[in-house]
Amino acid sequence: MFVDKVKIYVKAGNGGNGAVAFHREKYVAAGGPDGGDGGHGGSIVVKVDDNMSTLMDFRYKRKYQAPAGQDGEGGRRAGKRGENLIIKVPRGTVIRDAETGAVIQDMSDLDEYVLCKGGRGGWGNKHFATPTRQVPRFAKAGLPGEEHEVELELKLLADVGLVGFPNVGKSTLLSVTSNAHPKIANYHFTTLYPNLGVIYVDEGVSFVMADIPGIIEGAADGAGLGHDFLRHIDRCRLIVHIVDVSGSEDRDPVEDFEKINRELAEYSPELAARPMIVAANKLDLLAEDSENLARLRKHVEAQGLELYEISAATTQGTKQLVRTIANKLRELPPVTIYEADYVKPLAEAGDPEELNIQHYGDTWVISGPWLAQLINDINFADYESRMYFDRQLRKSGLFTRLEEMGIQDGDTVSIYDFEFDYER
Ligand code: GDP
Ligand code: MG
Repeated sequence: MFVDKVKIYVKAGNGGNGAVAFHREKYVAAGGPDGGDGGHGGSIVVKVDDNMSTLMDFRYKRKYQAPAGQDGEGGRRAGKRGENLIIKVPRGTVIRDAETGAVIQDMSDLDEYVLCKGGRGGWGNKHFATPTRQVPRFAKAGLPGEEHEVELELKLLADVGLVGFPNVGKSTLLSVTSNAHPKIANYHFTTLYPNLGVIYVDEGVSFVMADIPGIIEGAADGAGLGHDFLRHIDRCRLIVHIVDVSGSEDRDPVEDFEKINRELAEYSPELAARPMIVAANKLDLLAEDSENLARLRKHVEAQGLELYEISAATTQGTKQLVRTIANKLRELPPVTIYEADYVKPLAEAGDPEELNIQHYGDTWVISGPWLAQLINDINFADYESRMYFDRQLRKSGLFTRLEEMGIQDGDTVSIYDFEFDYER
């Protein structure tokens, strides 16, 4: 089975915890705080590997977790950071949010993307000494790494899509013009998944052609191999429509041509509107008195399309066809790149009862899972983002709870790596 759509779960590493420690040296009485920071967690990085052409590898491994950062230690020693976990994908893979289908990133025109950021390491107590707080007995926990369930989808990046009835010679054409070696057989649906071929025209001039099997009348309603396969030509810039003019299978070329076009239009009007050229195939089998070719030519040219005569089996005319395709591609706009439209939902405040609140002198150290998530989503350099944080905390009732516990104006509220003065 050709796997071109797969769901995976990814999680970046958590940040390590900061350490509480105090400098100790012989003959030195009260050393200062020297607890080091936790290391940052490893991120999940998606990387394009141009040697890959399927998402097959993901069939057996669906969970990816980057390592956590290590905890800090005394002597200002920072914890080791977790290494990034690299996930390799073929070029053209689109990463979507599994729940909504929104596009997170299209891996067509960039090579590397940080899908989940590792959690920041927590600060050690060395950061928390102030003139009024010389013995900070607290450090901060690391922040959680981001996690996400995503869907990877591979749309083959073919420049050219071959369409036509089964057995018209699509696979044969691909095999004689490209480096692909599709199965060729004299029965329908030989090709169970699209074959891709790279066709070298000249130095520096090449294109990718995909043989798209399974378009038969009714495929739009689920007959034949159906539309799953048609997705692969979403990005083609040019369609080559192959028609068997030999009459060897008792087919009428004009009827076939129209049927396939209807099928395309039903699947995707956009796709049907792409530039098309027509190749009349199996010329070597054409009976001398056959009118098939002439009829098809008249029909096709009346629609303003060009028709090329070929025999894929004997390679007659295939070189010219390839050159024509390459020339046309030069003038056609590039394939569609999907715009990211995924918007990360911001974490929301939860119940302050679930938080761990500790009180050291005039400092209130607060931690807990929902607060960590919230902090992760806040960009403290951004005013709007800070306001959101403030609103969430107010809404949660955290401040009311702190007041019940005796917080005073001017006390310090310390939340992970963020501190602010409390004011009613
Ligand atoms: P597809 O279903 O469109 O991919 O068709 P295939 O490429 O598998 O070809 C179907 C059959 O037609 C095979 O037996 C091929 O050898 C044969 N065939 C393809 N092109 C030609 C041609 O130009 N001349 C002749 N005589 N046979 C051909
Ligand atoms: Mg085929």
